[in-house]
Amino acid sequence: MVEQNLNYDVVIIGGGAAGLMTSILLARQNSDLKIAIVDGAKRLGAKILISGGGRCNVTNRSVVAKDFNGGSRNVIKRVLKTFSAKATVEFFESIGVPLHEEQHGKLFPDSNKARHVLEALIREAESLRVCLMTGCRVENVEVDDDQFRISNSRGEIGSRAVVLATGGQSVPKTGSDGFGYALAKRLGHTIQPTFPALAPLLLNGNFHEQLSGISLDVELSLHTTNDKPKRFTGSMLWTHFGISGPVVLDLSRHWHAAKLTGADPVVRCSFLPKFDSQRMENEILVWADENPTGLLSKKLSQHLPRRFVDALLQELQISSEVTFSQFPKQQRRNLVRNLIERILPVTDSRGFRYAEATAGGIPLNEVEPTTMQSRACDNLFFVGEILDVDGRLGGFNFQWAWSSAAVAAQGLASLFAPSSNK
Ligand SMILES: Cc1cc2nc3c(=O)[nH]c(=O)nc-3n(C[C@H](O)[C@H](O)[C@H](O)COP(=O)(O)OP(=O)(O)OC[C@H]3O[C@@H](n4cnc5c(N)ncnc54)[C@H](O)[C@@H]3O)c2cc1C
Repeated sequence: MVEQNLNYDVVIIGGGAAGLMTSILLARQNSDLKIAIVDGAKRLGAKILISGGGRCNVTNRSVVAKDFNGGSRNVIKRVLKTFSAKATVEFFESIGVPLHEEQHGKLFPDSNKARHVLEALIREAESLRVCLMTGCRVENVEVDDDQFRISNSRGEIGSRAVVLATGGQSVPKTGSDGFGYALAKRLGHTIQPTFPALAPLLLNGNFHEQLSGISLDVELSLHTTNDKPKRFTGSMLWTHFGISGPVVLDLSRHWHAAKLTGADPVVRCSFLPKFDSQRMENEILVWADENPTGLLSKKLSQHLPRRFVDALLQELQISSEVTFSQFPKQQRRNLVRNLIERILPVTDSRGFRYAEATAGGIPLNEVEPTTMQSRACDNLFFVGEILDVDGRLGGFNFQWAWSSAAVAAQGLASLFAPSSNK
């Protein structure tokens, strides 16, 4: 039921992870407050539903500030301390969603269903009498006499405080299309330039096409003109457009960041991360010593998928029938270069349509870290992905949503506390 033309104490714009959590934690602290969530989408929490491959990686066993990029690490640390991963586990347990741990410390609901996470959040918000308005896209927010006027596609509502929880701009069809930044700008904020994070990468040429579907454990390194190389290890998936998989997603925001600053990013890949070039070359010499008449392609296939070995040898014009005794030094060097430090010709990422997160947003130095309250506009708060913080893969982006929501809920609760004279 949409209750327009009403006045609320707190209106939360955006009913994703951060907005829902803010409403619940605030209502738990002050049940007298009239709280509403206003969302442009027909249904709340579209991103929760598609997260973690439909299983929702709610958080991680260990979450520290260096798992995040963007704004000040000290502020991030402080926010995480207010509502830690442990608090997240306890919270979800309290709303009937126990979590379990999987590889790399990732925590998922025991039911393995993202739907259960969303349903439990909505149930809890409703039981605390938070008014949930869907299909109400906010078009403007104005402040008039200490009162916010929130114009949306169905009318206008008033509120004493507003929380911007509109997310970033990744996967815009979920409802998070970046319009929240425009609202923030009108209320006096600046925006750190945004770019896709956790996005697959597009490659030039057609080497990748024949490898589509092959997954490899690799080390990727990002080289730029103004920084030390950044290294990422993990699984990489070849696709028809280029590369994807956890290691690629984690690197993507750094590639974009370097591109933005004109630092000329180059991505190198080691397909055998246990070896550096010298060790790889020695290893091939050992193989040759042990079995001079052995086939190079056969030996390499003991370490790498056969389809990848065949494609690489063909590209380097090395016969798959070549034996170690017939393998010239020049070709050996070229092979080692391509196995250990091959340049991947990245042209771009797949962009916001496919990115799991948004880098950039509202600068952290424009919010009060103890309350998430705006420093530019009284009684305005920010939570979640709209802020200039993006986490690596593994449940960190949701943890940022939960933690920043908890800080804002505390800030709002004290704003409306009887002793507060605001
Ligand atoms: C495919 C995918 C998988 C992911 N998997 C994971 C995962 O497993 N673990 C993890 O930690 N993170 C994951 N993420 C990232 C995570 O989903 C986000 O970081 C998180 O949802 C951000 O929460 P939020 O509440 O800040 O924003 P959002 O979830 O984006 O919610 C914003 C809400 O605001 C609404 N809105 C926007 N503009 C307006 C407006 N003008 N008026 C009214 N309403 C508006 C939108 O409709 C939306 O409901 C994934 C992301 C994607 C895209």
